[in-house]
Amino acid sequence: MRRCRACGGGVQDEFRFCPHCGKPQRTKIVEYFRGHPDVGDGGLRVSVYLTEPRHARLSVWRGDEAQAAISLDPEETSRLARFLRASATDGHQSLVSRVLARL
Ligand SMILES: [Zn+2]
Repeated sequence: MRRCRACGGGVQDEFRFCPHCGKPQRTKIVEYFRGHPDVGDGGLRVSVYLTEPRHARLSVWRGDEAQAAISLDPEETSRLARFLRASATDGHQSLVSRVLARL
């Protein structure tokens, strides 16, 4: 268990936010999404920065190299999350929308 740098409260290692004061315990959260095997390759890395200016950086990867990247502000990130959530066709939340819902 770690100590929160803001309030000194105990924080379990897997917690992203302090349960006592809400302070982010990481500066960014990263998730990697594989490309669809039938229509593309590579993957999408989404890095959510919890420090100012808050933003989400989306980068397209092929092998070990980023091909393109863009940063979205929190409002556009939320709009993207709503778009993907509304586009889910299987009746269940997709992994992408579950991750983006936490943004
Ligand atoms: Zn705290």
